[in-house]
Amino acid sequence: MNSYYWQIIILTIIFVHLGINLWLEILNIKSLKTKIPPFLQDIFSAEKYKQSQSYTKELTILNLIEKIIITSLLIIAIKLNLFNYLNKISISISSNYLFQGTIFFFLLFICIELISFPFELIQNFYLENKYGFNKMSFKIFLQDKIKTYILSFLLGGILLITIFFIFKNFGKLAWLYAFLGVSIFMFIIQYLAPKIILPLFNKFIPISDSSLKQKIHNLAQKIGYKIQDIYIMDGSKRTTKANAFLTGFGKYKKIALFDNLVNTLSHQEIIAVLAHELAHFKLKHIFKQIILSLANLAIFLITLQLFLHQPNISKALGIEYPSIHANLLAFSLIFTPLSFILGIMENFLSRKFEKQADMFALKFVKSQDLISALKKLAQNNLSNLTPHPIYVFFFYSHPPLTKRIKYLQQNSSSI
Ligand SMILES: [Zn+2]
Repeated sequence: MNSYYWQIIILTIIFVHLGINLWLEILNIKSLKTKIPPFLQDIFSAEKYKQSQSYTKELTILNLIEKIIITSLLIIAIKLNLFNYLNKISISISSNYLFQGTIFFFLLFICIELISFPFELIQNFYLENKYGFNKMSFKIFLQDKIKTYILSFLLGGILLITIFFIFKNFGKLAWLYAFLGVSIFMFIIQYLAPKIILPLFNKFIPISDSSLKQKIHNLAQKIGYKIQDIYIMDGSKRTTKANAFLTGFGKYKKIALFDNLVNTLSHQEIIAVLAHELAHFKLKHIFKQIILSLANLAIFLITLQLFLHQPNISKALGIEYPSIHANLLAFSLIFTPLSFILGIMENFLSRKFEKQADMFALKFVKSQDLISALKKLAQNNLSNLTPHPIYVFFFYSHPPLTKRIKYLQQNSSSI
């Protein structure tokens, strides 16, 4: 197929993708209700409820504006051959294909950052401020940015160079070697994240509340795990939103609780949240999700192999000299519909797992504790309480709060 047809295909994908996103976001805004659902009246004040609705609306509008601007600039870049310009700069800097490719993506990253940076500022320092979430000073924001840039250049650079090298040198089985290389890389990152990467951004202090600590150990023992360490994380340095997460391999788990979570929820509620988290491990959800993401990676690399040696796909973006990196960029646009469908499947499975974890947790904790924990977290995070069902189908990794409360009430635990 010649580059003209490829360009039509790529532009169609970009337009349809934007169209679907706009339609879903508008659908979601329209489904916001001004009246508070009766079963939430005990925990949401009318004021808080109104806030959650207008926060959702304003955040959606901001994201939509960003999406429209980025898509328009992408089309302009294709039509005015701006990617060719970036490619020429990278060729003029280095004669080595590995560095040319890395520099090309590095320049592209800078361009994308320049466009999205103002939106990040507006979200953090206007919107999140207005609704009282943001606790982050401008200094922390900048420090975070710099650390993230260094990490992305380092890790992204290693990943790109590996992919370029393998696809240039390993012939028909390149996808398989790339699959092995990228999987090993991901596992190393997963392993290092709690040890090296997360402490770059937050302080982790061993829990001092001995009564809560004992309750967590008791719960873990009942479910069949040993908790190695329990940390309190200073999430409140950036946001008022609350969360908890578990890491670790095998029988030994580490738990990190946001300080906001400990300050907002009662002990029983925290235990209920952790029972849900441990259920994910017990039901092998984490393992299944890793298998699924490896399958996604394999699909991506096999299709990439099919497209990588087609000179006309990078010409469709206006790039004169075909190369692996230029084709990788074109391919990532062509892959959008498939990744969109894979995302829907992943979310569908994730919602199923969330329900299973909720049900499993009920064997160990009272349903009313889990319900009130979920309500408090939703109130605290100003979650959208009335998302449109179609929007949920496409984008939600968790069932909406109303649904979760309904099935938790129906399956009230006997504890
Ligand atoms: Zn979960």
